[in-house]
Amino acid sequence: MIDNLRQIYKFLDGASNVQSIMNVLEEVFPLNAIYIYDPTTESLRDFSQSWMFIKSKELNNTFQNLKNKKYIVEGKYAYYALFNNGQIIGMLEFSEKLHSKLLEFLELSIFCISLKIQNIILSERMQKNIEFHDSMKNIAKIIETQYETNYIIPIIGEMIDKFVSDHLVYIFIDNKLVWPSACNDEKIFELIKCLNNNSEYILTPDKKIGLFPLISENKLLGCIVTKGTDSVLSEKEIEYLEQLSKQAATTINRANVYAEILKHATLDALTGFYNRRQLEERIKQEVSGAKRQNRNLCAIMIDIDFFKNINDTYGHAAGDIVLKTVARNIKLQLRDYDIAGRYGGEEFVILLPFTKLEEASMVAERLRKSIEQCKIDISKINNDTHVKNISVTISLGVHQYNKQESEEELIENADKALYEAKSSGRNKVVTKE
Ligand code: GH3
Ligand code: MG
Ligand code: MG
Repeated sequence: MIDNLRQIYKFLDGASNVQSIMNVLEEVFPLNAIYIYDPTTESLRDFSQSWMFIKSKELNNTFQNLKNKKYIVEGKYAYYALFNNGQIIGMLEFSEKLHSKLLEFLELSIFCISLKIQNIILSERMQKNIEFHDSMKNIAKIIETQYETNYIIPIIGEMIDKFVSDHLVYIFIDNKLVWPSACNDEKIFELIKCLNNNSEYILTPDKKIGLFPLISENKLLGCIVTKGTDSVLSEKEIEYLEQLSKQAATTINRANVYAEILKHATLDALTGFYNRRQLEERIKQEVSGAKRQNRNLCAIMIDIDFFKNINDTYGHAAGDIVLKTVARNIKLQLRDYDIAGRYGGEEFVILLPFTKLEEASMVAERLRKSIEQCKIDISKINNDTHVKNISVTISLGVHQYNKQESEEELIENADKALYEAKSSGRNKVVTKE
């Protein structure tokens, strides 16, 4: 017995995480689980199962009863209380009633076991605190240098998601869900209508849903919503979300103002697409985002077929109308966060973030078809032919970005695919891996 006790002390001393504690104890006891009471969320959690929340009423009752008795047998299970500084901190669950020798052994070693578990909990908390500060620092860095809301929002969403891992996270802007793509909880949509320009954060009475308004310069821009199915938000999490929502609101506001100013300086006057300089800027950003976050990104290079003929036949002004109409038609079929730029005269580049090659070539094919079917009204132009409607076709090259490529190579590869589409007959989509 004494030898066993020495042995267990020695092993416990070397244990540095939950799993090693479990391993040591399982050597000696018929151990099933270790439950720990978490005072911040006022709930019992399974220490061995990544702090899983324990719903079972029976288990919670057993825990309460252990405050008076150290050891309880419930049906085929047995429970032993873990104490620290005279306070119950959790309990061990055994798959059978402990025989007297084992119970005696446990009596002697329980102090040491409790202490070791408490130490591991403390070091886990510390680790989590470090992660919290790191993630706050990261977010601050990322969102301070970005001025594009479409960028910032998924980054914020993913960071929060990681931090409050047992909650769902939603981001709303102007009462519209912007991250992730779906939310089927009607209650959340109702709740966000209650927010105004002066709102503080709101927790539902059961503390399961949290609303953190995004307010900047006294204006409500949107909100971050968290929803726990089992667990409630801890104080630390609330503090984190409060800080983050303030920071995010400032950034989003700044991005909106900046976007408005930039819009006029960066768009091509004829098509409303990004001009070449701005397009290059956006390509750079998208490529670095895709690289950093391992996101899919595709580029489509588009060129109008025999465009010179249009100019030559109907005049330059008719050519301009064609350019305008083709651009409008393309834009209508893209998602909000796709990026359309005028690369050159009648050449366009479309960037499709979060998109795989297969989907991008479907988009390209849809664009090709829609331009082919489009009747372009040039009757307002004085030309000799009195033609009212004309049609054009486009050729498209599609390429998916891979991490080894530079920004230039992404466009070069899309251009190579476009060249193939041209040389193999035009009015075509060619896809290049
Ligand atoms: P391909 O099918 O091989 O692309 O033939 P294409 O005639 O379209 O090719 P090319 O590149 O030779 O012709 C492009 C023409 O686009 C030449 C140029 O005059 C015209 N263009 C460029 N910018 C503008 C513009 O802003 N307005 C008009 N109307 N024409 C433009
Ligand atoms: Mg061309
Ligand atoms: Mg052309």
